[in-house]
Amino acid sequence: MTSTRTAAAPAPADSRPPGEVLRLDGVRVTYPDGREADGTPRTATVLDAASADIGRGELAAVLGPSGSGKSTLLSVAAGLVVPDAGTVRVDGRELTGLPEAERTRLRRETIGIVFQQPNLLPSLRVAEQLLVTAHLAGVRGRALRAQREGAAEMLERVGMGAYARRLPHELSGGQRQRVNIARALVARPAVLLVDEPTSALDRERSRAVVDLLLAVTRELRVATVMVTHDTEFAEDADQVIRLRDGRIQEAME
Ligand code: ADP
Ligand code: MG
Repeated sequence: MTSTRTAAAPAPADSRPPGEVLRLDGVRVTYPDGREADGTPRTATVLDAASADIGRGELAAVLGPSGSGKSTLLSVAAGLVVPDAGTVRVDGRELTGLPEAERTRLRRETIGIVFQQPNLLPSLRVAEQLLVTAHLAGVRGRALRAQREGAAEMLERVGMGAYARRLPHELSGGQRQRVNIARALVARPAVLLVDEPTSALDRERSRAVVDLLLAVTRELRVATVMVTHDTEFAEDADQVIRLRDGRIQEAME
């Protein structure tokens, strides 16, 4: 689909084969929206006929005005919202249609999410933020030590190695965003979903965060979807998905 998967690309750090990683086909999402005058339930269509295909090492930018369905698109891709119609496939497996428990498991194994609202835990040091999921999953002993090492590497990768002992309130907004990104990547997901990563940052720090997202997308061969309302940051993307009123306007390579 793009030149990012040609022989010139750096060798992947893992053995993942090339090919599509995230694929949305004809996705429709509606929400209940009150009732008609005659009492019949009304629905609002938030996404309609949305299709997209994002490969390994590829970054897709999702652009669109407020309320156009960008966050909903990410929620569907994450399996957090089940569409009324259409399918979502991650790594060849269909998320839609799976029972909730399996969908959750597939999400944990294959998808990293950076939410729009910062959600670092205030009392945990940076290194521990990356191990919350491991702790919750009951990982102990040698496996936990391995995850600790992986977390330290990922913090280095995002330029936060020197801040491992800090608490969130001791970091700048850009640094917190880097920790969020490291946390989303620590389990080495196939897909990275990022909602407006630069909305709270100034120009320079926004640029640095987008550059970091591009770099980790290439190096870790992850399929990244980044929501932004800044056209400047979409210029670096391999693919731009423009949303208006829940419909994809154009998809450019
Ligand atoms: P964006 O991220 O582009 O600002 P969203 O995906 O958050 O847009 O929302 C798209 C539309 O869907 C908005 O009109 C919003 O009010 C509506 N919406 C989003 N989530 C819900 C929900 N859980 N229930 C009802 N309406 C929702
Ligand atoms: Mg949004």
